[in-house]
Amino acid sequence: MLKTKPILLVLLFFTFTLNGAPEFDLYFINKTMRVDYFHTGTAATEHFSLDRIYQEGEWPGNRINLIDTLDLGKYILRVYDLRTNVLIYSRGYSTIFDEWQTTHEAKQGTFQTFHETVRFPFPKNRVKIALAVRDRHNHFVEKYTKTIDPASRFVNLEQKKYPFKTQKFIDNGKPENKVDIVILGDGYKKNEIEKFHKDVKRYTNILFVTQPFKDRKSDFNIWLVDVESQDSGIDEPRENKWRHTALGASYNSFDSPRYVLTLANKELRDIAALVPYDQIYILINSPRYGGGGIFNLYSISFTGSEPRLPEWWSEYVFVHEFGHAFGGLADEYYTSNVSYDEFYPAGVEPWEPNITRLADKDKPKWSLLITPGTPVPTPWPKAKYDSLGVNLRQHKRDTPEYIRIEKQMKEILNNSANKYGVGCYEGAGYASTDIYRPSLDCRMFSKSLVEFCPVCQKAINKVITLYTR
Ligand SMILES: [Zn+2]
Repeated sequence: MLKTKPILLVLLFFTFTLNGAPEFDLYFINKTMRVDYFHTGTAATEHFSLDRIYQEGEWPGNRINLIDTLDLGKYILRVYDLRTNVLIYSRGYSTIFDEWQTTHEAKQGTFQTFHETVRFPFPKNRVKIALAVRDRHNHFVEKYTKTIDPASRFVNLEQKKYPFKTQKFIDNGKPENKVDIVILGDGYKKNEIEKFHKDVKRYTNILFVTQPFKDRKSDFNIWLVDVESQDSGIDEPRENKWRHTALGASYNSFDSPRYVLTLANKELRDIAALVPYDQIYILINSPRYGGGGIFNLYSISFTGSEPRLPEWWSEYVFVHEFGHAFGGLADEYYTSNVSYDEFYPAGVEPWEPNITRLADKDKPKWSLLITPGTPVPTPWPKAKYDSLGVNLRQHKRDTPEYIRIEKQMKEILNNSANKYGVGCYEGAGYASTDIYRPSLDCRMFSKSLVEFCPVCQKAINKVITLYTR
């Protein structure tokens, strides 16, 4: 036995590190491979087709945690070494396409196409990439595979250049051990770049006074690209206002008044790649309420405030959207209008860590954080809260009446919070019944500067650790 031990150890070190992760240097060089593709379909169908493959700059991600252990996201990218069929990289993510699938139009059979990107460390040898989507039982089903020879002429090596200045705004060390957020502005003209810098300062300050980001600030780098747009502000289709901006952000995504997204993925990815990044944050130069955040795609938020509306609304949105895009968190609220038809199908457990269908009342998925003795489901003055919510929807967002009702709703959350801590509170994920959230209130629930609930904080901490340890 003693004689064979050194050989075994050598073999282990040859392909895997001690924690079972693939050895970075064996499979990858310090560059990024980017695969762009088109994702097309209806609610019931989906098709993938390759666009282009690129080599980008240094690999910004962790070199130890190459395999994703978090089980977040609707999709997963898996990269296999072709010769040995060993899984050498994986990462969960979500897409605008999977939100499209929940719209009424998509359910009617209308097709739409979205441009998407996956990135992974640049392989030394030929690889097979596989894209898989969750089925109703949360098992990943492979939908697309592609063999890539990194040395082939089908990998585009051109270096794209833009006249935009870049800087490392918060520097806590090498990208491989940090969460690298690139912040890009959209709708800032050349003479508004100073405002972009002010906005960056304001909103990153807010992020890093919010837990768990406050305690883990040293795990983050912030990079800026001073993106200049031709016009000031972004598209507002419902107002018939159109602007030519560098990143193509627009209000009224899926025709929802305050949902902001960009569909210009190629431009966005080209510009973001000017710096090493794990996460993209787009600040829009517009005071109109709105934002969006999709897991491992990007976060987007408005800046400033409209007259008569509270200043802190944009601060709430900035951190809330990052909860989606970085933490894979679901919306815990359910009283607002959204464009989705049954976003979370009945009988299917959402993959997000902070909402549940509660199929097993004895063992909710965050049961470790529930104080013993807390009833599940956990009682709260839901009927009163809901009737105020119905009333709220009768009023426009910027009226005194709206703000007054919203305040009454907040009082309910504050008053009854004294009774139970983490439990299972009915009403979450755009549904009033049969979906549960962990706490009475949370940054993913009410429009307020309230902290993330303990379940959301734990989930965010796990993601930070995946990038940094
Ligand atoms: Zn929460």
